[in-house]
Amino acid sequence: MDLGIKGKKAVVSASSKGLGRGCAMALAEAGVDLVLNARGSAALEETAAQIRARFGVQVVTVAGDITQGQVRDAILRAAEGADILVTNAGGPPPGLWSDWSREDFIRAIDANMLTPIALMQALMPGMIARGWGRVVNITSQSVKAPIAQLGLSNAARAGLTGFVAGTARQVAPSGVTINNLLPGIHDTDRAAALDGGVVASKGISMDAARALRMADIPARRYGTAEEFGAACAFLCSQHAGFIVGQNILMDGGAINATL
Ligand code: NAP
Repeated sequence: MDLGIKGKKAVVSASSKGLGRGCAMALAEAGVDLVLNARGSAALEETAAQIRARFGVQVVTVAGDITQGQVRDAILRAAEGADILVTNAGGPPPGLWSDWSREDFIRAIDANMLTPIALMQALMPGMIARGWGRVVNITSQSVKAPIAQLGLSNAARAGLTGFVAGTARQVAPSGVTINNLLPGIHDTDRAAALDGGVVASKGISMDAARALRMADIPARRYGTAEEFGAACAFLCSQHAGFIVGQNILMDGGAINATL
């Protein structure tokens, strides 16, 4: 399917690895030029080089922590005319509800709520002026069903989801859509880190921790960054203009709910 977005420009934050990288790859395959970001420059440059070589699109890299204002400013300078924004950042650490301090909450809210909002506030006015735009926020299945040990994530992402629910309806008249993609477990470094926690707490092997998790997923496997990226690129396409303010779960059926 031709996604109809060849020649457009996209910002994908936190995109050297994992789900953000999957989104960047799929957008590049559709002919979209990219501004990519991550803190570590080695993996970022490697991803950028692979994308340039495979898809021939322009890729600008901005290394730095996306929660920092000066890093976002550098991204925005490179993002002149961008009509597509995919927001992403690392997820907060797991823990126990009683242990988290105010600073822990501020860090989580900054990364997983206020940073995507700041990027939307910076880039959507241009999209609105040009009458077309696509925003996809990478959130989490924890928005639909809480994961108790990820309370920082549950809290911060619920805030972003509330903001998007209202704002998506405000910008839709200008041809700008905002939607959230909610990953369940996907085979990335983040999943390996979470599984590492299970290995440590239960005293089992990594394979056993993965098997335990897969047993609870109707698809009986982890998702891939490639299929996550393909869904993201579709939401950024010309065909998705009537999908507004939705929270789309990609979890292999893990959350047992009718709606
Ligand atoms: P990942 O494999 O660990 O990749 C994270 C990417 O983001 C890397 O490129 C990392 O590069 C970059 N990054 C992290 N923090 C950053 C920051 N502050 N500023 C700029 N770049 C940053 O993670 P993932 O699995 O793709 O997860 C992406 C998001 O989806 C996370 O918020 C995660 O919590 C959420 N999620 C993932 C799953 C899953 O199963 N994978 C499930 C539910 C939700 P650097 O480290 O070099 O910065």
